[in-house]
Amino acid sequence: MMNKIGEINFKEIKRISPSQFYSMKNCAYKSLLAEAFEKKPLLPLSPNAYFGTVLHKMLELIAKGIVKDEDDFNAEFDKQVKALEEDLRQKGFGFFVPLKIRLRNFGLKKIQLKKHLRSKSEQSASFSNSKFHSEKWFESQDKLIGGKVDLVIENGNEIEILDFKTGAITQDCLDDEGEIYSDVKNEYKEQLKLYAYLYFENTNKFPTDLSLVDLTKQKFPVEFSEEECKALFDEAKNLLTSTNDCINTKSFSANPKEENCKYCLYRPACSFFHKKLETDYSFNDVLGEIKDVKKFQNGNVTVFLQNENKNLIIKNFSSKMFDELNSHKDKQIRIYHVRKESTEFVYSITETTMIYG
Ligand code: SF4
Repeated sequence: MMNKIGEINFKEIKRISPSQFYSMKNCAYKSLLAEAFEKKPLLPLSPNAYFGTVLHKMLELIAKGIVKDEDDFNAEFDKQVKALEEDLRQKGFGFFVPLKIRLRNFGLKKIQLKKHLRSKSEQSASFSNSKFHSEKWFESQDKLIGGKVDLVIENGNEIEILDFKTGAITQDCLDDEGEIYSDVKNEYKEQLKLYAYLYFENTNKFPTDLSLVDLTKQKFPVEFSEEECKALFDEAKNLLTSTNDCINTKSFSANPKEENCKYCLYRPACSFFHKKLETDYSFNDVLGEIKDVKKFQNGNVTVFLQNENKNLIIKNFSSKMFDELNSHKDKQIRIYHVRKESTEFVYSITETTMIYG
């Protein structure tokens, strides 16, 4: 089906969350598009991203003490997966189901997740000395910055803020001598430092520890100073103001780079990205004018696009698409999530391909 993007109705972003800050810093236009489309993505997420929401929910329920033992875990996990699969079917992504079969590492991730269950002795020891606040909402006094902290553990003067991540927490970096070392991703460091300042604004105390925890239960400490938390907090507020100012002045800018756009789910509405697609063939998205549409004996349909002076071939559309594609001859269309074939400028469609015209 051919999708359309009508006029974009930009809206002021009321609040910035610590988890959104880094992405907004890299391309504020993405945040404006997300707001304009009420955070409803214009492209499907990967099945792993959908599954990540289940993993995170399970971590939350374990942290809250709602899921206590293996029986609770198995029942809740099955319930969450079933609900997600139903949701995917309703969204038209039934091909991701069953997740157990479609996802590599499904079983491994479930086993890793189970390690987060606290043993009986851990449960009684920790609950007697510490206060646990799971999914705790904090916002700044002016309400411009706000977000949910996965877990806060308060034990006398010791206050730890923890954030759970279901994917990789570290990335490879190069030191001054060109040696590779592994470090916590900057976006996660900044997210935690913003939580630290939010905690301070609300309690007048800074946390003593900031930590990230991965699925294998490995903990990664994040060092911080009060000054840098405050500086990031101010930077986030300024970013929010300058981003919202673009709506009034209508002078939008974006940062179309591979690392920003590759996973941006608002690409179909981004004119800056489309401009990039006119000359950049590194993405799994293509754009061009339909020059011809051919139906083959096996029913498969191939579309011939022209982009500037390049001819692109996109194969394997179903025969149901023939008439619609044909009616767009000489018009520009954009096709997202295609697979590159071994021959240059030849692509085929995938289960998640979407067409915008
Ligand atoms: S497609 Fe790229 S440039 Fe456009 S909003 Fe998304 S990240 Fe920004």
